[in-house]
Amino acid sequence: MNAISSASYTVAVRALCEFTAKQGDLDLRFTPSPTAEQGMAGHATVALRRNSSYQREVKLEGQHGSLQVRGRADGYDPDMQQVEEIKTYLGDLHAMPDNHRHLHWAQAKLYGHLLCQKLGLQKISVALVYFNIQSQKETVLQQDLGAGELADFFALLCGRFIAWAEQEVAHRSARDLAITGMVFPHATFRPGQRQLAEAMYKASTRSCCLLAQAPTGIGKTIGSLFPLLKAAAEHKLDKIFYLAAKTSGRQLALHALGNIQNSTPALGLRKLELVAKTKTCEYPEAACHGDACPLAKGFYDRLPAARAAAAEQQMLDKEGLRSVALAHQVCPYYLGIEMARWADVIIGDYNYYFDLYALLHGLTIVNNWRVAVLVDEAHNMVTRARQMYSAELQRDSLKRLRKSPPPALKKTLNSLYRAWLQLEKEQEADYHPHAEIPEKLLTALTRLCTEIGLYFADNPSQLAPDLQQFYLDALLFNRLAESFADHSIFDVSKAHGTSTLCIRNIVPAAFLTPRFAASHTTALFSATLSPWNYYCDTLGLPDGTAWVDVESPFSADQLQVHVVDSVSTRYADRARSVAPIVALMARQYHAQPGNYLAFFSSFDYLEQVSSSFINQHHDIPVRLQTRRMNEADREEFLARFTEDSQGIAFAVLGGSFGEGIDLPGARLIGAFIATLGLPQLNPINEQIKLRMDKIFGSGYDYAYLYPGLQKVVQAAGRVIRQTDDQGVVYLIDDRFGRGDVRALLPGWWDCKL
Ligand code: SF4
Repeated sequence: MNAISSASYTVAVRALCEFTAKQGDLDLRFTPSPTAEQGMAGHATVALRRNSSYQREVKLEGQHGSLQVRGRADGYDPDMQQVEEIKTYLGDLHAMPDNHRHLHWAQAKLYGHLLCQKLGLQKISVALVYFNIQSQKETVLQQDLGAGELADFFALLCGRFIAWAEQEVAHRSARDLAITGMVFPHATFRPGQRQLAEAMYKASTRSCCLLAQAPTGIGKTIGSLFPLLKAAAEHKLDKIFYLAAKTSGRQLALHALGNIQNSTPALGLRKLELVAKTKTCEYPEAACHGDACPLAKGFYDRLPAARAAAAEQQMLDKEGLRSVALAHQVCPYYLGIEMARWADVIIGDYNYYFDLYALLHGLTIVNNWRVAVLVDEAHNMVTRARQMYSAELQRDSLKRLRKSPPPALKKTLNSLYRAWLQLEKEQEADYHPHAEIPEKLLTALTRLCTEIGLYFADNPSQLAPDLQQFYLDALLFNRLAESFADHSIFDVSKAHGTSTLCIRNIVPAAFLTPRFAASHTTALFSATLSPWNYYCDTLGLPDGTAWVDVESPFSADQLQVHVVDSVSTRYADRARSVAPIVALMARQYHAQPGNYLAFFSSFDYLEQVSSSFINQHHDIPVRLQTRRMNEADREEFLARFTEDSQGIAFAVLGGSFGEGIDLPGARLIGAFIATLGLPQLNPINEQIKLRMDKIFGSGYDYAYLYPGLQKVVQAAGRVIRQTDDQGVVYLIDDRFGRGDVRALLPGWWDCKL
C-alpha cells in the first residue's frame, strides 16, 4: 500500500523492497512463469506439507518514524520459529538472476523483523522456499537471524525510503492546499461546460460512475479535468487517470493540464503521459535486457536518481520523460512505468486501465489507490473493450510449427492439430459459431501451453520467435476460455484452405464492471452516448451510474438538417441511389459553394457516387479518401480544407474523417451522409445480433442501429464546431424518416423532412 495521509505514509513490504532493494539490470527476456493459478496451487501445496500449527498469510505491520509498513508473510511455522517466503517457478533455479534473489531475501527479512516484533522473539529462522511447479520439489534457503540485525535491516530499508515518503507527503499536502485555491483557467465557463463540470464533481462526491453526453465545442477536456482536480483534495484522490482513444485526445488533455497549472502555479501537479513502447524505445532493434540495450544495463542502479529527477518535473510528456531518462541513461519507457506510481495525473490509452493485464488497474489494486478515471470519446469503448477481451489463433501458425517441432512438443502439437482439423471437417459453412469451446480442442490447447512453458523453462536458449508468439496467443486464448460465457462467441472461420479460431467478445460488461468498481469514480464522456442504456448495458456500468445530457451550446438555426427519405441507400438500391445523390450534392453546392464532406458506407459506394459526380460536374472540385491512406496522406487531405477552399470531399463513414477532426468556420460548411452507418450484414454481425437479443432483448438495435447512428451523429458533428458556425447536413436514406431513428439524433437538431 502506498497510501498517503497528511502526516504518515503507508507502504507495502513488497513495494518498499522494490523501491529500496532492486538493483542491477532491467531484464525482460522472455521467461515462462507460473500462471496465477499455478502460483496459488504451489503455495497451497507447500502449506499442506507443513505441520498443523503452520500459519498462512500472516498479517504484519511495523512503524519507522512516520512510515507504516504492512504486509502478509506467506507462512510461519511456530514450532520451528521459521518465517517462509514462498516463490513458485518453472525451469532451472540457478538461472534466476541474482537481483531477483536479492529482492526475495529483502522481503523475507522484513517479514522476519515484523514477526520478531509481533511475537517478541529474539531470533528467527528466515527461509526462502522455491517451489518448482514442474517437479513439485522445494529448494529451501535458510538463515538464522537475530532480532537486532533484522531490526537494523528494516531500519536501513525504511531509512532509504523515508526521505522519499516525506517528500511525497509534502508534495501531496502542497498539492491539496493549492487545489483549494485553484481557479478556473479561463475567464468564464463556456455554455454547457459548467453543467458538465458540476456533474463530474457530483459523481466524485457520490463516488459513482457518470455517463456524460456533452456536445463538441464546450471544452470537455478542461470541463472534466478541472472539477476532478478540485475533488482530488476533498475526496482524497490519489490519482486521476485521463484515458483517450487517440493521440490527439491525449494532447488536448496535456494542453488543458498545462493551462490549469499556469493559472495556479502552486499546484505543482506531476503529469505523466504513458506512450507505447514502440514509440518511446531508443533501441528498437535491441531486446530489453542488459546484454542487448545500454539503457537496460544497470537500469535499477541508476533508477533512484532518474526517479528523483523525474519527480521534480511537472510535465512528463513523451519529450519530458525522454530528456530525464537519457540524462540518467535509463530506458524512457520503463522510467514512465515507474513514474506511474508517483504522478498525480496520468494520461494514456484506454488499455492502461481496462485491458486484461492493465498497468494502472494493477497498481490501483496493489497500492489501494483512490482513483478517478476519465474516459474521453467514450463511444469508442465498446469496440475497444471487445478487442481487449477477444483472442484468435490461426491454423497456419500451428502448421508452420509442426514442420520442424522440438521433439518434446511434437506429440502435443500434433494432437492439437488433429483436434483442430476434426473441428474444421465437421464444419460445412465458411463460418460457424459454437455454443461452447469444444472440450477436446481446449484440452489439447491447454496441454500444449503447459508443455511449451516447460520446454522454454528447460531450454531458455531455444526461444524460437514463432513458437513464442504462438505460445503467447494460446495463453491469452486459454485465459479467455476460462471465463467463456454468454458475453462472448466462439467461432471458426474457414478461408483459403485454412481456418481461424476466435473467442470474440460481444459484451465486455463482465470484464469492465470490476474496473469501474476499483475506481472512486469513473466518468465516461463523449458527444455521442445515446441511448445511454446501450452503453450502460454493454459496458457494465454499475447501478447508480449518473447520466447527464449536457445542453448544447449550439442552436437549431445554426444547422439545417434535411432528411432525404426519398432515397434508399440499402445495398440492393445503391445503383438507383447514385443519380439523386449526385443531383442533390450538386444542387446544394451551387446554392452555397464552400467546403463539404460526403460520407458513404463503403469505398465501393463512395467510388460509384464520386465517379458519377466527377463525370457530370467538372466545375466542382472533388477529393477522395482512398483505401490505404497513411498519416501524411490524411494530414494532406485535411489541410486542403481551408477558409478559402471549396469543394466536396468524399469519405467513408466510420473511417479517419468521420470523427476526431476539427474543421471550424468556413473550413467545413456542410455534410452529406448517405448511409445509416449500420455495420455490414454478415454472419458475424448476425451472431452479435442474436446474442444481443438473448442478453438484452434488443438484437437489431444493439448490434446495428445504435452503433450505426452513433457514427452518423459523429460525422454530422464535424459541421458545427463553434457558436458562430453555420452549416447544413443532409441525412440521405428513407430510414431517417422513421421516428424511432430520428429520436436517436441530438435533441437540438431541427430535422426537416
Ligand atoms: S530502450 Fe528499448 S530496448 Fe532498451 S530497455 Fe527500453 S524499450 Fe527495451
